[in-house]
Amino acid sequence: MDPIVARLAEVKSRIAAAEREAERAAGDVTLVAVSKTFSADEVRPAVQAGQRVFGENRVQEAQGKWPALKAEFPDIELRLIGPLQSNKTREAVALFDVIETVDRDKLAAELSRETARQGHSPRLYVQVNTGLEPQKAGIAPREAAAFVARCRAVHGLSIEGLMCIPPAEGNPGPHFALLAGIAREAGVERLSMGMSGDYELAIAFGASSVRVGSAIFGHR
Ligand SMILES: *Cc1c(COP(=O)(O)O)cnc(C)c1O
Repeated sequence: MDPIVARLAEVKSRIAAAEREAERAAGDVTLVAVSKTFSADEVRPAVQAGQRVFGENRVQEAQGKWPALKAEFPDIELRLIGPLQSNKTREAVALFDVIETVDRDKLAAELSRETARQGHSPRLYVQVNTGLEPQKAGIAPREAAAFVARCRAVHGLSIEGLMCIPPAEGNPGPHFALLAGIAREAGVERLSMGMSGDYELAIAFGASSVRVGSAIFGHR
């Protein structure tokens, strides 16, 4: 068996076990397979094995990799999980089904213009910088609920969920709990949280999707 397909099966069975452990319904959690840095040929076995939701962190890299695969497998769902420059909004709206990194008014305004122009909108998540790390994108936790409200009322965007990337060091649990609390306050349904090292914990804290890269595709 292709090693990627074997690791994909392992991750899926661990997600199923974490759902049971958290007394959540089977299939509640969406697996986003993070394929950044891997080529279309490396990703293809995962698609052929039935995986349909993928995450990329760069618009340009995704543009070179996904249009052909999406044409061949129309039910693929592609998610942008990396920072979005306002001047790449047009390309991002055209290619991605979900954009998880809305984090400032300038970008929200640009997305509003571009979704009107193209006549369709990707589903949108607001990224929250739960660790207030200067090198990371995302809105500050204290400002997040008000920003979600502005996305809706001022920019006319519908916000499906929140996303966070906890600091690399330390216990991610408090960050997952913080994101869940902000989601309740903001009236947002979905939580994108948990990566290769901590996706089972994220599921215990209520993740609706987990973004798993290296545990499936190997080291980058
Ligand atoms: C790369 C990346 C992931 C996946 O990380 P792994 O540790 O390889 O699972 C998840 N989320 C974001 C935003 C990423 O950039």
